[in-house]
Amino acid sequence: MVVNTCGFIDAAVQESLETIGDALDENGKVIVTGCLGAKEGVIETAHPSVLAVTGPDSQAEVMEAIHTQLPPQHDPYTDLIPPGGLKLTPRHYAYLKIAEGCNQSCSFCIIPSMRGKLISRPIGEILDEAEKLVEAGVEELLVVAQDTAAYGVDTKYRTGFWQGQPLKSNIDELVKHLGGMGAWLRLHYLYPYPHVDRLVEMMADGLVLPYLDVPLQHASPSILKSMRRPGNQEKTVRRIEQWRSTAPDLAIRSTFIVGFPGETEDDFEQLLEFIKEARIDRAGAFAYSDIEGAPANDLPGAIAEELKQERLERFMELQTAISADKLQERVGSITEMMVDTITEDGVIGRSYAEAPEVDGVIWLDVDTDIELQEGDKFDVKISGADEHDLYAEPVID
Ligand code: SF4
Repeated sequence: MVVNTCGFIDAAVQESLETIGDALDENGKVIVTGCLGAKEGVIETAHPSVLAVTGPDSQAEVMEAIHTQLPPQHDPYTDLIPPGGLKLTPRHYAYLKIAEGCNQSCSFCIIPSMRGKLISRPIGEILDEAEKLVEAGVEELLVVAQDTAAYGVDTKYRTGFWQGQPLKSNIDELVKHLGGMGAWLRLHYLYPYPHVDRLVEMMADGLVLPYLDVPLQHASPSILKSMRRPGNQEKTVRRIEQWRSTAPDLAIRSTFIVGFPGETEDDFEQLLEFIKEARIDRAGAFAYSDIEGAPANDLPGAIAEELKQERLERFMELQTAISADKLQERVGSITEMMVDTITEDGVIGRSYAEAPEVDGVIWLDVDTDIELQEGDKFDVKISGADEHDLYAEPVID
């Protein structure tokens, strides 16, 4: 068994170690990969019997460890890997990683020290991979990186080539070409750089889904400063208004940290005020926790666990009400839906405003004897909403 791990926050470390333990109990032959493997000795100490430990992006090392245990044998069937590769996601959507690492230095984050500085993949290689995925039946490409909008900064936006055509390695050019491939295109994890405004224009032009995943983390200027993050509440609210006037259907997703060291009741109230004003469509919040090696651990003013949880609950209560209101506003509208899952109980899908795995879904009321496939797209009429999900019926011509 190969276990992929995350070493970002303590809860993820714990979950990774438990999963390795489960895998050892299950079959005893375990190879570990992923970020936690880069933290020297952690896995070996907790689970000395694992066969090999590799770090992130270690495809070759993982294959070598597997082949040490199971020397490869020629098999005419399993040797025939399709050109789109083998994916762990369903056939109709795929994550497309465009870069690794990060040049920012947010005080609560250890990604730059764990994954290193930003390294962007060559633009031609990304476009080739995307094209193969679309040819293999992928209907939605989800662009990811630790800092997606910074794509190309490390290469000084050098000129790359795709299909003999010179292309600048920057996010605009990448979106322009990915957006022309016929699949939905969704961008995740956009640090709020000024040029995100241009991406919103591309959303308005229909090149990329009008879905802005922009982690804002907080709204109080003093907390943002100690997080080493940009932004202030008023300016960000104005920016969001501007984004919404450029792309009126824009769905905004964001994440926030509550209980950061030094967060006063006033700072927290500013965050709630911001959430009320900005009416973020999809917001997730985490209670701050120390991460080994993060500079924020040394900040004064640690918040008691109980207070963190209380603030988290207050945040989520407000956000749930905003989400319910915003979803209610969509009742009666017609939207394009993509089918994700077909079960005996019904059909579940998403529109441009819902990313897989992190947002709500659309429950479609349709006869299950109608022939549908995962990845099918068609218009539906939104007929109801609750706090996180929508309900819809097909639009009959
Ligand atoms: S931008 Fe994201 S990945 Fe980079 S340091 Fe900040 S939180 Fe970490």
